[in-house]
Amino acid sequence: MIVMKFGGTSVGSAERVRGLGERVREHLPRKPAVVVSAFSGITDLLIRGARFALHRDPAAEAAVHELVTRHNQAIDELVPPGDVKSRLLAHVEAVAGELRILYTGVHYLEELTPRSLDAISAMGERLSCQIVAAALERLGLPARAFEARNILVTDDSFGRALPLMDQTQARVREMIVPFVEAGGVPVMGGFIGATRAGVTTTLGRGGSDWSAAILGSLLPAEEIQIWTDVDGMMTLDPRVFPGAKVIAEVSFDEAAELAYFGAKVLHPATIKPAVEKGIPVRILNSLNPGAPGTLITREARGTEGEPRAIAFKKGIAVILISQPRMLMAHGFVARVFEVFSLHRTPVDLIATSEVSISLTVDDPALVPNVQKDLMALGEVKVLANMAIVSVVGRGFVQRSGLAARIFHALRDVNVVMISFGASDVNVSCVVAEADAERAVKSLHREFFGESR
Ligand code: ADP
Ligand code: ASP
Ligand code: MG
Repeated sequence: MIVMKFGGTSVGSAERVRGLGERVREHLPRKPAVVVSAFSGITDLLIRGARFALHRDPAAEAAVHELVTRHNQAIDELVPPGDVKSRLLAHVEAVAGELRILYTGVHYLEELTPRSLDAISAMGERLSCQIVAAALERLGLPARAFEARNILVTDDSFGRALPLMDQTQARVREMIVPFVEAGGVPVMGGFIGATRAGVTTTLGRGGSDWSAAILGSLLPAEEIQIWTDVDGMMTLDPRVFPGAKVIAEVSFDEAAELAYFGAKVLHPATIKPAVEKGIPVRILNSLNPGAPGTLITREARGTEGEPRAIAFKKGIAVILISQPRMLMAHGFVARVFEVFSLHRTPVDLIATSEVSISLTVDDPALVPNVQKDLMALGEVKVLANMAIVSVVGRGFVQRSGLAARIFHALRDVNVVMISFGASDVNVSCVVAEADAERAVKSLHREFFGESR
């Protein structure tokens, strides 16, 4: 068995869905289970609509309308008139009706909780999974849609739910495995799940990759394929620098580090279930299916001490806590971290000096509460709109001259904070968001040259 996950751009139009069908057909002998994202742009549309509703802006209704139009058009192009088509159109109508009710609730309550937002943003995958399954059937493939909320069981941390693996395992065994073994192709929406009580949850933005890895580890699959719109994991986001090169093979820990520090091509949590079962993950291009892609494996071949890629992540806040009297007194750092733990706020980078400690947080919405409590411990300063720029690769610590090359490349950029990961796979710096592109291009030039 293998898992084939198709991202938003691979299900962006009727033509792309047909291409998806071809990829599935080619892999039929390997017993694929398919995971799909929402059609491209739909999750953003749903969230945008929710914000309109919150601000009592009538544009929320336009979002519902656009949702219906996009999906009905895809159905028209993919499924001929008949029972299946009528059922799909009714499904779109029902989901749109539900969305309208939720938007109305948000509008009148003037409140958008993470729980409501999950119910709203899950609708894209609820639609795409039914439409893709019907389209595959139409192409003569033995496909059937499986409602992800009946399979992926999660806790109730809305907006960033954690999978409950034992419960999910039971459902996968009961529903998916027998179907695949009988030669069927299950199609499940990624990104979404439900609590044990059946309340809709999501795994966080970009979470379909994670759904694919969870399913892959539970089947278990012999390979997890992430089909997207680029040739693989590259030395830098190709949208920022089109000359970036494809990385043929990378280790799980390097890929995790790259994903965590902003290489959006893969959701960072994807790696964990795959590593635990030793299942290789392959990133492939649905627009260029002949390309070899990137293979992520336990051990990758490659030169130790050479960077593999540059990543960056914007929208970071730096929190600086100074306390001249207390900092290195024992217990101080623990108290600082207690505050972060209390507010369930993850920290990315940390740097300390004798009198201060600086940390980065990648969700600015979480900063105000933390800031308030930290003020009891010392003087607190917050720098917003920052970016983390990371050089990722193995064996950095053993390599002399590398830091010099990084600083040389960043000589014209104001670096606010530096962290040399003890895990030996990355060096990260914090710069102003406005400097991020310039910084990563310069680092890319230093380590990978200019070539196109
Ligand atoms: P999907 O909808 O298939 O999940 P995403 O938009 O989530 O696609 O991820 C693919 C995008 O990730 C690419 O279009 C690319 O711009 C971006 N990206 C960022 N960093 C990298 C990188 N290092 N290598 C490849 N793609 C990257
Ligand atoms: N549709 C979701 C998102 O846009 C999940 C995903 O595509 O991975 O974030
Ligand atoms: Mg993605």
